[in-house]
Amino acid sequence: MRAIAVLAGVAALATAGGPAAAEDLAAGAAAVRDRALADGVAWSLVESLTTEIGPRPTGSPAQARARDWAVAKLTALGFQNVRAEPFEAEAWVRGVERAEVVAPFPQPLRVLGLGRSVSTPKGGITAEIALFGSLDELIALPPGALKGKIAVVSQAMTRTMDGAGYGAVNRNRTQGAAEASRRGAVAYLVRSLSTDDTRLPHAGAMRQAEDAPAIPAAALSVPDAQLLERMVARGQPVRVRLVLESRSIAKTPAWNVVGELPGRERPDEVIVVGGHLDSWDPGTGAIDDGAGLAITTAAAKLAGEGGRRRTIRVVMWGAEELDDSGEAYAAAHAAEAGKIVVVGESDTGAGPVWQARLPKGSPEHPAMKAFVAALAPLKVVVSRDPAGPGGSDIADLVKLGTPSVNLTPDTSRYFDLHHSADDTLDKIDPRALAQSVAVWASFLYTVAASDIDFRALRTP
Ligand SMILES: [Zn+2]
Repeated sequence: MRAIAVLAGVAALATAGGPAAAEDLAAGAAAVRDRALADGVAWSLVESLTTEIGPRPTGSPAQARARDWAVAKLTALGFQNVRAEPFEAEAWVRGVERAEVVAPFPQPLRVLGLGRSVSTPKGGITAEIALFGSLDELIALPPGALKGKIAVVSQAMTRTMDGAGYGAVNRNRTQGAAEASRRGAVAYLVRSLSTDDTRLPHAGAMRQAEDAPAIPAAALSVPDAQLLERMVARGQPVRVRLVLESRSIAKTPAWNVVGELPGRERPDEVIVVGGHLDSWDPGTGAIDDGAGLAITTAAAKLAGEGGRRRTIRVVMWGAEELDDSGEAYAAAHAAEAGKIVVVGESDTGAGPVWQARLPKGSPEHPAMKAFVAALAPLKVVVSRDPAGPGGSDIADLVKLGTPSVNLTPDTSRYFDLHHSADDTLDKIDPRALAQSVAVWASFLYTVAASDIDFRALRTP
C-alpha cells in the first residue's frame, strides 16, 4: 500500500505539467518496481495464452485465435486504440516427418523439419551421410563434393548467459542446407541448436539457396546427432532414410496486435515495446515468446499507471519466426519513426533479466540514473556497451534511426527449451518473470514520465 501511495504522488507530479524531478522519478521507478514484483498479470497472460491457444505458427488456424486473444486481453487490461494491423507473411506448415538409419545399424532417429524445408520425394530419400564437425568443414569442400549425399553438421552448442552460444552455431541451421545444396547434397541434417541432452529436436527456420536446388532439411535431436557421429567413427558408410513433408505458403494473412496507453502531455511521443505472438509448433510457445509479450504488456500497464507524459504502446508482433512482422511494422510506421522515443523487444525468455544496455549516451541522464537506481535490488548489470538492434521485430525500426534498449534475460537455460516440445509453461519461474516485469516497468516508467530524448544524447 505504501508503494501505491508514493506512486500516486508521483503520478500527480508528473501530470501537473512538465517532467517529474529526478528524485520523484527515482521514487516513482522504485514504486513501480515494487508493484511489479508483487504483480501477477504477466503470469496470468502467459498461462492463458499457452493453455487457451497453445502453439500458434503463422499460417495455422491458431494464429487467428491468438490474434483475437491478444485483442481481448489488451482491451480487458485497459489499453486503448487496440487493433490488429494486417500484413502478409510467409508460412510453412509441417507434415509427416520420419528418419531412420538403414545401414549399418538400423534404428530410428528423432528429427523436426526446418522452416522453409521442401518435402522429400514420394517414398523419402535414402542416401549415405557425410558428417561434419562444423559448417566451415562443409564449406571447404568444392562444388559437387556432396553429390547424392545427405549432409550432416553436428556441432555442439555452448551454454552462455548472453546467447553467444546460439549466435555461434545459428548459421548451421539457417545456412547449412544452402551450402550443402551448392555442393550437390540431396538433403541436410543439423544437430539441434540446443544446450540440453533430451531426445527432443529443436525446430527453426532455414534459408534455401537461390543459386542451387531447394532441399529437404531437418534438425536432429542432440543424442541422435551423437549417435550418427559414433556410427561414422566406425568407418563404414552410414545410410539414412528421410521422409519430410511440408507445405510452403508464399503469402498468408498475419497481424501485429497493438494497444496503447496514451500519453497525458505528449501523446505523439511513443515508446514501443513488445514480444511476438506467433510461435513454433512443437511446444506451446511459453518462453518463446509468450513470456516476452506477457512481460512487456504487464510492465507497460504498471508503468502507465505510474504517471505518463508520453504514450506507451505494446506491440504483439505476429510473424517473427519467419522474420516478417518486424519489416511489416517498420514499413507501416516509417512515417512516425522519428516520434518513437525508444523501442524494445523481449524475445529471449522468461528471465531473470541480468543485463541492461541503454541507448548510446544516455546513462548519465537523470531519467536513466533513476532507472539504474531502481535496478539495484534486481541484480541487473548495466553494460558499458550501448544497446544494439535487440530483437528481429525491432531491427527494422532501429535501421530507421529509432533508439533501442536491450533488457536481456539470462539465457543459460533458454536454449534447453527454445523451439522444442519442451517450451511449455512449467519451465517459467514466476519469480524470474516478475523480476523481468520489474525491470521493464521501471524503464518504461522513467522514459514515459520524463522528457529524455535519446536521439539528442547520441554523441558522434
Ligand atoms: Zn522468439
